[in-house]
Amino acid sequence: MAGSVLNTSVTKLKGVGPVKAAAYAKQGIFTAGDLLVNYPRAYENRGNIELLDEITDPDIKHAVVLTVATEPKGVRLRSRHMSMLKFKAYDDSGTAEITFFNQDYLKDKFPLGSTFRFWGKVERVGRHYAMSAPAFEPWYDDKPLRDLIPIYRLSEGLNQKQITENIAQAAALCGQEIPDDLPNDIRIENKLCTRTFALKNIHNPENFVSLAAAKKRLIFDEFFTFGLGMALTRAKVKKSGAPECRDNDLVPFSRSLPFPLTEAQKRAIREIRADMATDSPMNRILIGDVGCGKTVCAAAAVYIAVKSGYQAALMAPTEILARQHYADLSDILGKLGYSVELLIGATSASKKTKIKAALTDGTLDFVIGTQALLSDGVEFARPGLIVTDEQHRFGVMQRATLSEKSKNAHTLVMSATPIPRSLALAFYGDLDMSVIDEMPPGRQRVDTFYVDGSYRARLEGFIDKNVREGGQVYIVCPAVEEKESADDEVTLDEMLETGIIPDTAPPLKAAVKYAEEIQARFPEFKVEFVHGKLKSRDKEAIMARFAAGKTQILVSTTVIEVGVNVPNACLMIVENAERFGLSQLHQLRGRVGRGKRKSYCVLVYGGDDLALCSENAKERLETMKTCYDGFAIAEKDLAMRGPGDFLRGNGDDTVRQSGGVKFKIADMCDDAGILTAAFVASKKLLEEDPELSNHPELRDTVTSMFTLDRTTVN
Ligand code: ADP
Ligand code: MG
Repeated sequence: MAGSVLNTSVTKLKGVGPVKAAAYAKQGIFTAGDLLVNYPRAYENRGNIELLDEITDPDIKHAVVLTVATEPKGVRLRSRHMSMLKFKAYDDSGTAEITFFNQDYLKDKFPLGSTFRFWGKVERVGRHYAMSAPAFEPWYDDKPLRDLIPIYRLSEGLNQKQITENIAQAAALCGQEIPDDLPNDIRIENKLCTRTFALKNIHNPENFVSLAAAKKRLIFDEFFTFGLGMALTRAKVKKSGAPECRDNDLVPFSRSLPFPLTEAQKRAIREIRADMATDSPMNRILIGDVGCGKTVCAAAAVYIAVKSGYQAALMAPTEILARQHYADLSDILGKLGYSVELLIGATSASKKTKIKAALTDGTLDFVIGTQALLSDGVEFARPGLIVTDEQHRFGVMQRATLSEKSKNAHTLVMSATPIPRSLALAFYGDLDMSVIDEMPPGRQRVDTFYVDGSYRARLEGFIDKNVREGGQVYIVCPAVEEKESADDEVTLDEMLETGIIPDTAPPLKAAVKYAEEIQARFPEFKVEFVHGKLKSRDKEAIMARFAAGKTQILVSTTVIEVGVNVPNACLMIVENAERFGLSQLHQLRGRVGRGKRKSYCVLVYGGDDLALCSENAKERLETMKTCYDGFAIAEKDLAMRGPGDFLRGNGDDTVRQSGGVKFKIADMCDDAGILTAAFVASKKLLEEDPELSNHPELRDTVTSMFTLDRTTVN
């Protein structure tokens, strides 16, 4: 069987002894099959043959076809360990001297009159040329050489030649029998080549066209497997026994709210309630624009859990968000007669001990905290529900880990990043999805304008006016910040950072200076500056002062915390707005208009002339002025930028959605088009064969992709 051929140990291949085998092992290569999927990291294009006298750039490698003109001569150098081999070779335009170092054994490889394709840098020396240690292949007029030569990742003890040869041996060993797990109809529907063709051409491409076809197929395979894995993860989670929360009459809960629920909220709560009533764990994501009222849906879920006799936990990514949730929810649930506690870093040690004990003995119904909740040795007597807020920055594997840790509890994830339908499956394919696409009534629209730098004086007047009337102001300016290390669990990466064009964004210094200027301009107001380089504790302190109204103007890079609710903030100014993607601008705008104050968003574009902005930037600004629906904006963003840039622009957190699953050749951003197609295909296959019982090999591939990486996640 071909499968067993793929399992042939690399030590069975020519030239691979224990030392080389160890070098391969370092790269995770143990078998012939591993070699076949050890894809080249790049290719050299040696197909463009030049004449010696055409070559002008001595710094890049060129391909020349030269005939040996003189017998290779060894030259021993004074230094004991050095020898050189030299000969002359020519083409129609000139003669080059070729030199090899310490490779005396090459002496017999270049008989007089034989022709080679040489690949290397070409130096001009007077009227002649010189090449030092070029790559070479014998050239026969009737047997053309391949243009594209693969380059592999090396580890010590291995060279390109060895790897290339071993891969060729592995390929020969497997012959035409490389198993193709992809169902044929899916392959044809997606215009994909066979896996045999793909593996042959990825290593030894016939030409650019076949290389492209090979890549497409292999990328598709990875995403297809990924898609299946996500869906199967979900199915697996679904099966295990979960606490049935059937005591779910929500009338008392709804009555306790100061407002009627929107239709969208009711729908989401219905979906949650149905999930929780069954004995398979809920695994649901609730997606909705900032301010649409996700928290109250989560509160409904918590209510169902505690009323049914189980415990609930809510995790927020930062302490300040945890505090806000505590303020909102302890009120609602406390009034209904349930106990609620806040467990964060700042909680006193004795209080922490008490809370943990109460969770363990089951006397505490509901705990709110940061992710530390999961790692702190917190034990629940009757775990029922885990809610995580703003969790879009965690990936599939982290979510899987979370649901494992939370045993069979129901899980609900909330995200404020509207995502286009076509991509949602790829990101949340392992979750059921509820969408809140409606804002609570009476929500004011954040009037949006875009202006150029000449409006600065008027803008300052506007800031002044708003603050004097008691409001607060955000000013966001793009700045490149190096990523801080993920030092602790509450670190918020620069959520929206990557929306900025890095080449043109000013350095952090400029933003610091800008903040100082703002403070100098408004000496009566308190101005603070928050950016990603600060420790998360400091960031939180600054955010907390702003939330408490102690700071009037908050200048920031794009790190403003996603979910922080400062209802008193009424003006959002974005500097160099042309540098931000639509979704980022929309997220930023969502910081204001959360309270009673009439709110505004002013997008300041760089330079004084809109004509200087790209068409694309103009369209973004105009869209912001006219469109207020996060999902519509996400669709527009996707349409304008394409899936790759959409994903990239929506932060590394989005890209991290693959969390932990490592792709060999596929890239979530670059290959987003294939991603979508592969997910559609994986969904289709699972509809026909939910357990993949008719595709056992495929099932194995999926299992190994997901379990292998699982170990690297924590
Ligand atoms: P997000 O979805 O961004 O987490 P929140 O849950 O924080 O939004 O809700 C934003 C604000 O809207 C809160 O002050 C909340 O009390 C209020 N709110 C939520 N639902 C409604 C509703 N149906 N009617 C009126 N106000 C609501
Ligand atoms: Mg929220």
